Amino acid sequence: MFHRILIANRGEIALRVLRACREMDIEPVTVYSEADREALHVQLAERAYCIGPARAAESYLDRDAILTVARAAGCDAVHPGYGFLSEDPAFADACAAAGATFIGPPGDVIRTMGCKAAARKLMREAGVPVVPGSDGPVAGPEEARAAADTVGYPVLLKASAGGGGRGMRRVDRPEQLEPLFHEARGEALACFGDGEMYLEKLIPDPRHIEVQILADRQGHVIHLGERECSLQRRRQKLLEESPSRALSPALREAMTAAAVAAARAAGYENAGTVEFVLDREGNFYFIEMNTRIQVEHPVTELVTGLDLVREQIRIAAGLPLSVSQEEVALRGHAMECRINAEDPAHDFRPSPGRVGFLHLPGGCGVRVDTGLYPGCELPPYYDSLAAKVIVHAPTRLEAIRRMRRSLEELVIEGPRTNTDLLHQLLYHPDFIRGSYDTGFLERELDTLLAWSGSGEEEST
Ligand code: ADP
Repeated sequence: MFHRILIANRGEIALRVLRACREMDIEPVTVYSEADREALHVQLAERAYCIGPARAAESYLDRDAILTVARAAGCDAVHPGYGFLSEDPAFADACAAAGATFIGPPGDVIRTMGCKAAARKLMREAGVPVVPGSDGPVAGPEEARAAADTVGYPVLLKASAGGGGRGMRRVDRPEQLEPLFHEARGEALACFGDGEMYLEKLIPDPRHIEVQILADRQGHVIHLGERECSLQRRRQKLLEESPSRALSPALREAMTAAAVAAARAAGYENAGTVEFVLDREGNFYFIEMNTRIQVEHPVTELVTGLDLVREQIRIAAGLPLSVSQEEVALRGHAMECRINAEDPAHDFRPSPGRVGFLHLPGGCGVRVDTGLYPGCELPPYYDSLAAKVIVHAPTRLEAIRRMRRSLEELVIEGPRTNTDLLHQLLYHPDFIRGSYDTGFLERELDTLLAWSGSGEEEST
């Protein structure tokens, strides 16, 4: 087993990994930018090293700075968390070259799955259903038009290197294709330095459902059920739950089997997520595979009772999975709310700054993952996720009630947050029925803002 793990991340996920290390008797080493000097992941670690200025490009994304620390501190492994360098194949390779095990899949697997046109092809060959669309990348608007004519409008133009919805455009009519192709490719080049595009049929009002996978070096691949992630604003997830109300036992079995087949076809190792869209007729299609731990992983931890970061570390150390598929039991219902420091009354603009009084919810079935403490500073340089409130209960209705009361207990003085909006969402009749799709939150946003009072606030 490893002796010392370098945690190449910040915020709640750095703490999440630090805690797993402690419980496994592994010494956590953390790194931080100048903006994070007072951060909890620095204060809780015996060893923390400053790796550069606030800007992520000069600190949390600086491979050399991080590996210099890893070598100097004698770390035998690196955990990348999510975001930052977690899906950078060059970083995974550089860790291996520096003699530190990258806690994730091999660089080549990240490379293949990071190229979404190639991943689609691999999945189709493995018999995993993919969204109808282009065979591989489309070189220009002409090829895109030919593919769109075959599958029928509306279509989605997507960037192969895409993420976070960037480089993606919906095209409703043939004459829009050429201008939108250039627009999407321009955005992909600017964001990812890679303009490769492909095309998919647009699935109307789908659900976004993903399957958690674990795969070890001994060849075991298991799934840990699904997470329903359809509650999104601008393709960012806000609330996730497991199990999904949209899956019958037969559909769950088919989808999880497809996810296991996908992981096998990819030669996958470590924890990963296979993402699908589900249409209204119950057909599901692979959209991408995420080769890292996800923000919403605690939902799966609460229904399975497993510690996913611990499993990640064990797998990277060459140990077999601690459970077999038969031993995985999915119990009760779990739900996560992402508390973001942003102002819903002003188009969700980021709301960084100093936190004053802080009260976090607790009690039966409640878990809070956060780097917040009273008096801490939320720097403006990074994403706005401030805390994750996760609940577990025997049934979905009890989980909803537990989440409502948890959000009522939450007090964050200082930055504005989306807490009231989430609280109102938990009272929406369609949410309570479990009948929602990826467009639901944006369609209902004005209603929810009015209910939460955020729509009427004085402008400041
Ligand atoms: P990114 O990596 O940029 O987030 P994804 O391929 O994961 O891109 O898609 C992001 C979101 O867009 C999904 O959660 C889903 O809501 C929606 N989406 C993706 N592909 C389709 C599709 N073919 N039809 C309808 N919606 C889609």
